[in-house]
Parts: sequence; C-alpha cells; structure tokens
Amino acid sequence: MSQNMQQMKEAASGKRLRKFAIENRGDTFSKALQTQICAQLQKHQLIYDEVQPDLVISVGGDGTLLQAFHHYSNRLNLTAFVGVHTGHLGFYADWTAEEVDELVQSIVSGNFDIVAYPLLSVAIEYEDQVRAKHFLALNECTVRSVDGLLVADVLIKGEKFESFRGDGLCFSTPTGSTAYNKGLSGAIIHPSLATFQLTEIASINNRVFRTVGSPLILPRHHYCQVVPGTDQSLKVTVDHLSSIHHQIRQVEFGVADEKIRFARFRRFPFWRRVRDSFIG
Ligand code: NAP
Repeated sequence: MSQNMQQMKEAASGKRLRKFAIENRGDTFSKALQTQICAQLQKHQLIYDEVQPDLVISVGGDGTLLQAFHHYSNRLNLTAFVGVHTGHLGFYADWTAEEVDELVQSIVSGNFDIVAYPLLSVAIEYEDQVRAKHFLALNECTVRSVDGLLVADVLIKGEKFESFRGDGLCFSTPTGSTAYNKGLSGAIIHPSLATFQLTEIASINNRVFRTVGSPLILPRHHYCQVVPGTDQSLKVTVDHLSSIHHQIRQVEFGVADEKIRFARFRRFPFWRRVRDSFIG
C-alpha cells in the first residue's frame, strides 16, 4: 500500500492526528491562544505542519473556519477540522478558550469520532462552452447581477422551473443553513441530510413575473442550473469569497462528492447548538 493510501485510510478511520495546523482570526487574543495550543500539542510530540495537517484547529469564529476550509479544500479527505471560538458560540467553533486544556488532552488521547457533512458543488460554465470554473462551498453560494436586477431562468435537472427576477439567488449547504440562508427565511437543515437549499433574495412577484417564493430543498441526485439573461455579468460569492464573471452560459449547483470532516471529541447535538445560538 502506498504511503498516501495508508494516510488516507488512517485519516478516514480518524485514527491519525499526528500533524496539526492552526488558523486564527488575526486578533491578539486568538493569536495568543494559537501560541498556547501549539506549545501544548508540541509538548505531546504532535507536529506543527501547515502543509499536510491531519487536524486543522480554527481559533476565532465561524468566519475563521470558512477561511481554514478554503485553505485546505484540496485535502479534505486527509484533514479534519475543529473550532475554538474566541467570541460568541459558533456553529463550526464549539470549544471555548477556557476549554483549551481539555481539547488538547482529547486530541492527544486520540479519543474522537469523525463526522462528515455535505458541501455544495458550484460549476460556472462560460458561453464558449470550453472554460468552466469549479468551487466548493461550506456555507453557500450566491448569484447576483453586477448591474442590478438578476434576470435568470432556474432549471432543475435540466428542465425549466421558473424565470427569476430580483436581487439574487442563494444556494446553501445544511451547515450553511443557519448562516445567510436563515436571514433569507430558509429552513434550518440537519447536516446529516445530503441536500442543498435554494432561497430567493428579494424576488419580484407580480402579475408579470412570478417565482415559487418558497425555499426549495433538493436531494443529492438533483442538480439546479441558473441561466442568466443575455449579456449579464454575475457577481458570485462562495462563502466569504466573491468574484465577478462575464459571458456565463450557466451556473450549476449540486451536492458535492467531497465532504468536510470534523473531529468530534464530545457530543454537541445540532439542535442544541441551534437552540443555544438563536433562542438562548
Ligand atoms: P462576516 O460578515 O464577518 O460574518 C457573518 C456572520 O455569519 C458572522 O457572525 C459569522 O459568525 C456568521 N456565520 C458564518 N457561518 C455561519 C453558520 N454556518 N451558521 C451561523 N452563523 C454563521 O462574514 P464572514 O466571516 O466573511 O463569513 C461569510 C459568511 O457570512 C457567509 O458565508 C454568509 O453565510 C454570512 N453572511 C450572513 C448574512 C446574513 O445573515 N444576513 C449576510 C452576509 C453574509 P462568526 O462571527 O462566528 O464568524
């Protein structure tokens, strides 16, 4: 068995956390916590490796974990993530700064599970039918027109569903359903469900233009395409990243083959997290 295959097998079984990296929010407190965690893990013979970590510890907020995810999105099957929050409770960051000693002990003892959650696949295809760009989103992808109103057809599995006119469209993952999607009155989806959700951003609905108006939740075997009207340049956001695209034929969305893997050292049920974050 090649070394890479062996690493993948061990990483997939969640038995191997020898090398770690830490991503921090950039504030003084998060940086100090990073130094503390780093020193404690190295004392236990774990190796700091920013290039090929088995475990990425995000110190900051959910935004920090989004950054960490995009930094290591090329090795998702070899890297697990865990989040320490230095602000309010996060959806991806559920350890507090006060619990860092306990987290370090748990990492060292290797007593953890790996949980894998669905991601969104985004494929931007251009009019020349040659170029295409692919992205993975942990939270969501939004599509807007650069020049104002987005005018686009929405297709489901290649069949026209509706003509959309409005500010934009948001496609989110189950773990992203508590982020921007929630602000658009989308449903909160349990991350064990391999789905993606489409929510409208301020659609125009009158006697001339009509969209379904409700969020749609699509299963793994469905895909959705947004076909913009002629000559529309699009602003596409993927989590915290944003880019502008010209001469687009369509943008296709679906549940990605890849998943994000979290190292779970203790139980923290999803609905409890939702309650603690939004209800208190
Ligand atoms: P930001 O403006 O710094 O953060 C936006 C807020 O969203 C932060 O409070 C962040 O938590 C929180 N958040 C991120 N992912 C979340 C999740 N999965 N569930 C619940 N809350 C979540 O922007 P950023 O740090 O660059 O993050 C980009 C994200 O912001 C986007 O993916 C989008 O989902 C979100 N956003 C939300 C809205 C809205 O709700 N109206 C509007 C724009 C963007 P932390 O403070 O812990 O980082």
